[in-house]
Amino acid sequence: MEESVRLQYLEAMGIDVWVPRHPPVVAEQAVAAPVGLASQSEADHFDAPDNEAAPTPEHPATSETAVNPQHAEPAAQTVESAAPRKSESDAFAPLPHHPKSHTDDQAWKELQHQVAICRACSLCETRTQTVFGVGNKHADWLLIGEAPGRDEDLQGEPFVGRAGQLLNEMIRAIGLRREQVYIANMLKCRPPNNRDPQAGEVDACHGFLQRQIELIRPKLIVAVGRIAAQNLLKTQQPLSRLRGIRHELEGVPLTVVHHPAYLLRSLPEKAKAWEDLQFALSVYQSLQL
Ligand code: URA
Repeated sequence: MEESVRLQYLEAMGIDVWVPRHPPVVAEQAVAAPVGLASQSEADHFDAPDNEAAPTPEHPATSETAVNPQHAEPAAQTVESAAPRKSESDAFAPLPHHPKSHTDDQAWKELQHQVAICRACSLCETRTQTVFGVGNKHADWLLIGEAPGRDEDLQGEPFVGRAGQLLNEMIRAIGLRREQVYIANMLKCRPPNNRDPQAGEVDACHGFLQRQIELIRPKLIVAVGRIAAQNLLKTQQPLSRLRGIRHELEGVPLTVVHHPAYLLRSLPEKAKAWEDLQFALSVYQSLQL
């Protein structure tokens, strides 16, 4: 899509684009600070805010793994020191891929089929279709959201509504395009009225997600939003406690970011989302060293 058309499209939807306030420090960042995210009503459901809380013995601010950006150096500096400079063209160079095999193709087809015919929970009765996942099957980055919403249920693809448009911008903010990452949800079927997923539904769907992780073998998983983060990490900790920490899922490093639907209606949180993305990028870059 032409850049000017893309910008008009986003503007018409009330989504401001994340553009650099300063020249990018690292070309891989491609764009920088988030600016004015318009409020909207698409997904009032997603990610009710949780309160910031003081460090606890369980999550001390000084923990080796805990690099809560709120207490850290400005994100851009952290990223600059963590990564070598790259040229603009490098920023969008294809990521190194795992060798593609026929067996992988078969395994993906089989998995996709199993998801499409799944009747393991009652969501199969209200779905229009299953929403499997989309993107580069050999991506370094796997983004995992909560569950399909109305648009996703109709189109059969994750994050295609307004929150999805903002997620695309968030992906661009780390120097990637939507097609370069893989995007999936914890649940493959839409919960009626976008209600929160129930534990039994998450359990019923978990095997599918686990298999996707096995097949993609991502270098980094990003849990998108509180519900995904809490379920994937099997914790009730608020998002504020999970941010800025390198977690692990199925042996893969995992970081969390605010859900774009939440950001669309919570202007003050946009800076935190930017920090979350920078933290994810710094974890990814540390894996490349
Ligand atoms: N929110 C999600 O978590 N996933 C989607 O696919 C869409 C909105």
